[in-house]
This record gives sequence, C-alpha cells and structure tokens, in this order.
Amino acid sequence: MSVLVIVEQRAGGLNRMSLETLAGGAKVADGMGVALEAAVLGHDVAEVAETVAAFGPAKTYTVEHELLREYTPDGFTKALEQLIRAKQPAVVLFPHTYQVRDFAPKLATRFGRALVSDAVDIKMDGGHPRFVRQLFQGKLNADVSSNAGGAEFVSLQAGAFRAAEASGAKGEVEAFRVELEARDIRTKPEAPFREAQRSVDLSSADMIVSVGRGIKEKENLPLVEALADALGAELAASRPICDNGWLPMERQVGSSGQTVAPKVYFAVGISGAIQHLVGMKGAKTVVAINSDENAPIFEVADYGIVGDLFQVVPALTAAIKKAKA
Ligand SMILES: Cc1cc2nc3c(=O)[nH]c(=O)nc-3n(C[C@H](O)[C@H](O)[C@H](O)COP(=O)(O)OP(=O)(O)OC[C@H]3O[C@@H](n4cnc5c(N)ncnc54)[C@H](O)[C@@H]3O)c2cc1C
Repeated sequence: MSVLVIVEQRAGGLNRMSLETLAGGAKVADGMGVALEAAVLGHDVAEVAETVAAFGPAKTYTVEHELLREYTPDGFTKALEQLIRAKQPAVVLFPHTYQVRDFAPKLATRFGRALVSDAVDIKMDGGHPRFVRQLFQGKLNADVSSNAGGAEFVSLQAGAFRAAEASGAKGEVEAFRVELEARDIRTKPEAPFREAQRSVDLSSADMIVSVGRGIKEKENLPLVEALADALGAELAASRPICDNGWLPMERQVGSSGQTVAPKVYFAVGISGAIQHLVGMKGAKTVVAINSDENAPIFEVADYGIVGDLFQVVPALTAAIKKAKA
C-alpha cells in the first residue's frame, strides 16, 4: 500500500503545486504508516523523475511513452489506470491544475470513484485521511472521507501545503511500462497555451504590499505605492484590481494568480476571500488594514488595523520614512 502523488511536468520542469502535493502526500503517508510514492508521465522524463526522487517519495515511477509526449486526457487516463491497477495505492493525490481537472475525474470513474477535488487541507483520523473541501465560496468546510475501499482520488488546491523541500536522501526511480496505441487517443493536441511572460517574481519577494478594492479608484494607487517604496516592498493586488487593469495580471495574488510566501504581507483594503488567502497564507507575518472589523482577512492577520486606509496608509508611510531616516 502507498500514497501515490501524480506530479506534473512540462518540458522537464516541475510546477510548484506538484511539490506542494508531495508535501500533502507525505502527511497522508506518515499518518497511514505507508510509503509515499510518485509518478511522472511523459516522454524522456527520467531526469525530472530524479529531481522528484529528492523531494520525499520512496519510489518514483516514470511512465513514458511516445504517445504521452503531449498531454491528452485519453493517453494520461489509460496510462495511469494501468499504473494504479498494478500498484494498488490507497490514495492517489494530484495538484489541482487545469490538466488534472481535465483528466482526473475520468480516471477516478474508471475505478468507480469520484474525484475529491480542490481539497484545502488533510486531517488524519485514526490512520485514515479526511480531506477538507470548501463549499459556498469558503463559507463552509466539509470533511470528506471514504469507506468504500480501494484507491481514493484527491486533488489539492494551490497553496494548501508548503512546497516539499529537497532532502539529502534520494528515493528509487523505477520505470513502469504502459501499453498504449494510437487509436486509444481521440484528440489531437495543438500547441500549448503560453502564459504571458512574468517579469515580476512575487514568489521570491521578502515584503509585499497588496492592495484590494478598498482603494476604490486607480488614481488612488500612488498611496499604496508610496508605502511599498518606503518599505522596499513589491506591490501586489487582489483579483479585481488586476481584472480592472489597474495593475498588471502578474501582480495578482491568489488561486488564479501567484502564490507568495514573504516575511511580511500587507493586505490593504482586501476582504480576505478564500481565493486570495490561498495565495498568501504562506506569509510569515500578515498585516491587515481594513475598515470592516469583521473582514475575514483579520482571521489570518498577525497585526490588524481597523480603520480607513486613506488615513492609515499615509500615516504608516510617514512613520516608516521617519524611522528609516
Ligand atoms: C475561480 C475564482 C478565482 C479567483 N481567483 C482570485 C485570485 O487569484 N485572487 C484574488 O484576490 N481573488 C480571486 N478571486 C476573487 C475573490 O473571490 C474575491 O472576489 C476577491 O479576492 C475580492 O477582492 P478584494 O478583497 O480586493 O475586494 P472586496 O471583497 O470587495 O473587499 C474590499 C475590502 O476593502 C475594505 N475597504 C473598503 N473601503 C475601505 C477603506 N476606505 N479602508 C480600508 N478598507 C476598506 C472592505 O471592508 C472590504 O473588506 C477569484 C474568484 C473566483 C470565483
């Protein structure tokens, strides 16, 4: 028995969510007292499997085939079905990426199961995992567990776990042969969608000042820019600010933006919706400025200032400048 993490690689590069899923997998494997294993699919994936092997799994399977060179839901489903039938893991974990959303429900159905999608946490209960899912935009949490026997299929939300770190010890890498034929694959992939080049890497910033809809108008942004400048911080934003085009998309923090883990994160006029929180909850210290004392952001804040940002931010900027002078 094992916990099997399906990592995602593109052109030999691992995405951060795969490392987060390995950390989640380690928690389940420890709690169940079983081995953590991983699988990487594609063509020529030996090198990336060696990288994965340093991040905790006792064994990493390479699942290689010419027909897996490009992602197709048919190819990935058929290949993983063979691996899972052969290895019989207790839990199969995926990062909740667009690719996983595409094929994992179909894969789970092959085993008569439903995918427990977008879990935000894992609780261990007497050696059994319970997966926490959010309902109604994060207003309710549901603990999902199964007593059906056989593998459980679960995808983990971005930011649900801190990325696994490479350890000195390297696990084993083992090739798993799959049988695939061209007629198994009913779709023909086109060139992959290329995301806009990111010129700002918020994920490595030590300090971030993030602004939300509380700023009211684009013309008011210099107020928070001045705070960021005084602190030597990067400027970031919640989604509505980027959707409005007030700041570029690459500065968006959250489930559909960047995941950040600075030493200090200032949330200015941000309510703290779950989609925002998943992108910044790895911050060591959170300072929230919000006029609504019941705003959910205060639940994750280490320091909270209940007040009008148009008064608080200039006063804070002036105090920081004075302290630094
Ligand atoms: C599929 C999906 C993906 C999403 N992805 C993301 C994502 O990646 N990142 C993201 O951020 N959101 C994302 N969202 C949107 C998310 O649900 C929220 O709508 C968004 O985070 C809210 O942004 P906000 O906090 O800036 O605005 P609001 O929720 O409107 O909050 C504004 C806050 O400002 C405060 N305020 C108002 N005036 C003042 C003042 N004068 N002084 C101080 N405080 C003031 C208010 O009290 C309020 O709390 C996503 C949503 C969906 C459905």
